[in-house]
Amino acid sequence: MQVTKSLFAITFALAGICSAQTQPPPNPLKTYIKEDAPIIVLNNVRLIDGTGAPARERMRIDIDHGKIVNVQSAMLRNAFPPGAKVIDLEGKTVFPGLVGMHEHLFYVSPLEPKDGVLYGGEAIDSAPRLYLAAGVTTARTAGSVEPYTDLELKKMIDAGQLPGPKLRLTGPYLEGNPPLLPQMHALKDEADAGRLVDYWAAEGMTSFKAYMHLTPAELKTAIDHAHEKGLKITGHLCSVGFTEAADMGIDNLEHGLVVDTEFYSGKKLGVCPSTRSATAEMAKSLDIESAPVQQMIHDLVSHHVAVTSTLAIFESFVGGRPELEFETEEKPSMAPQSWASVLETRAGLAEHADQSSWAALLKKEMQFEHDFVKAGGLLMAGCDPTGFGGVLAGFGDQRGLELLVEAGFTPEEAIHIATENGAKWLGEDDSIGTITAGKAADIVVVNGNPANKIGDVKKVEMVFKDGVGYDPAQLLQSVQGLAGIR
Ligand SMILES: [Zn+2]
Repeated sequence: MQVTKSLFAITFALAGICSAQTQPPPNPLKTYIKEDAPIIVLNNVRLIDGTGAPARERMRIDIDHGKIVNVQSAMLRNAFPPGAKVIDLEGKTVFPGLVGMHEHLFYVSPLEPKDGVLYGGEAIDSAPRLYLAAGVTTARTAGSVEPYTDLELKKMIDAGQLPGPKLRLTGPYLEGNPPLLPQMHALKDEADAGRLVDYWAAEGMTSFKAYMHLTPAELKTAIDHAHEKGLKITGHLCSVGFTEAADMGIDNLEHGLVVDTEFYSGKKLGVCPSTRSATAEMAKSLDIESAPVQQMIHDLVSHHVAVTSTLAIFESFVGGRPELEFETEEKPSMAPQSWASVLETRAGLAEHADQSSWAALLKKEMQFEHDFVKAGGLLMAGCDPTGFGGVLAGFGDQRGLELLVEAGFTPEEAIHIATENGAKWLGEDDSIGTITAGKAADIVVVNGNPANKIGDVKKVEMVFKDGVGYDPAQLLQSVQGLAGIR
């Protein structure tokens, strides 16, 4: 009896194995997917195509196995492809999946104990989902604190095991001494900078980011080592000014004018001055229209150095901004300690707003970005979810679009900056960045009209990545209360 029973159990188990082998495994992302028909038509929709062209009404987009195959007027009433799932999007708007160019897979951990160490915890679950839910379908990180984790995370997302954007990973920060976070390695010398680039390029990193305290010689070595491999390098610089970095061959500068120290009266060659003093002087007396600033803009443009706009993080330092209503939208995604800490810092910033330079700096930064584009510069956008935690992955990218419009760009131009321009820098504009036949079906569907009211970019109903439509509500739901913890 006992024997028969065990034999039966074995046979049952074997049968189980056989059936598991013949049936396709269930899609682990099923919960998050709203649409995955192989052929989809998005019909009667307002189209902002990412090129900067004005929105077009009543358009139709045909998607076939992850690719956009046709973009035409719905008024033509052409026949639908056989077997297509037709989705009527009357009253809604589509724009390309955002190409976030200053993203991170970490988020500041709440400071506990209060005299603890400043630390960026890997947002292993929350960051990829928050990005995708907000319509960021491609994310270039701009500095890593857990490079191996980032690489593994990318593998899992690419393999369809986890939801998230297409990651374009940057190696560990190329930081000098003292490093801003203990998670950053302080470079010892030029050879060390070269070694770091070589090692992490071999491990699979596709770009690099120089940071505030590295020496000019270390920067130059890092640039050369990256370029030797056909890789690009960006920087959030401080010890080195923008003009100097452009001359060295850097490909991209993060944040814009506010972090450029070259106009500061107390600047010493190769040394990062006090940020407080440098920004206070900039806020008080630097004129964007002055010849030296315009010359710097000209130098960046002529050296093809792109700039990444990160207005959301700068705004978070301005007392009373963004309005609490916006910040409250982020609350459900945040750990309670993180939310409490953000509220506390906000209150402090509001209380001392009259002594702060940040309102003036935000304005100057906006003016600089506008002038940079006018001069022919490639401006891209990203959210930079760092600082004191006031900017969250994804939410910050949406806020950035609103701020670009406040800076004087049209909504279509703002979307162009946050989509096609990033794709161009990545060298991927033949496959992503605009809604054009032949490109990947990375498309954000929003309920509203961002061409009239840019804030409507936040009303995301569905995010297509390679033709698969993800549900932002489910993605957000799955990471409730997690930003700041994991
Ligand atoms: Zn950053």
